[in-house]
Amino acid sequence: MNIRLAERELKTKFGNFREILYYDGQSESIALVTGDVEAQENVFCRIHSSCISAHVFNSIECECREEMETSQSLIEQKEQGIIIYLEQEGKGNGHLALMASIEHKQAGLSQSEAYKKAGYEADARSFRSAAEILTELKVKSGVLLTNNAKKAVDLRNLAINVADTKELKN
Ligand SMILES: [Zn+2]
Repeated sequence: MNIRLAERELKTKFGNFREILYYDGQSESIALVTGDVEAQENVFCRIHSSCISAHVFNSIECECREEMETSQSLIEQKEQGIIIYLEQEGKGNGHLALMASIEHKQAGLSQSEAYKKAGYEADARSFRSAAEILTELKVKSGVLLTNNAKKAVDLRNLAINVADTKELKN
């Protein structure tokens, strides 16, 4: 079960967010919140997994950075929304898996197939913490900011009311 450990005001180039750090006894997750979300419907929600390559090394091989920036921008424009950042590199397989999968990806496989070929799960991510945090924030329903429709299915399976999804275009 995720509990709140700390809160602060975070200034970003898109605007200010309330940053809330959660801990479930194993890993930390962070929620960036703008506006009043409690008991609100159609709250913009972005569930974002860590990506060292994009966020630290400015990699141009994936869309993680653009998706984070677009999400922050959309949420600040709407003056309401939540970004949940989960520590799960390489679709939950870890950064080693990502590096080990690259040769298969370069040979033409999708990222999921490349993980499998390298001996990892196609997608080992869990959205349980995200679901717990959305519940703790008392969001009534959300519009999921994602280019991956399966994420809405995963969250609905965790009893989260996903009213709609919105694609993130660059
Ligand atoms: Zn990435």
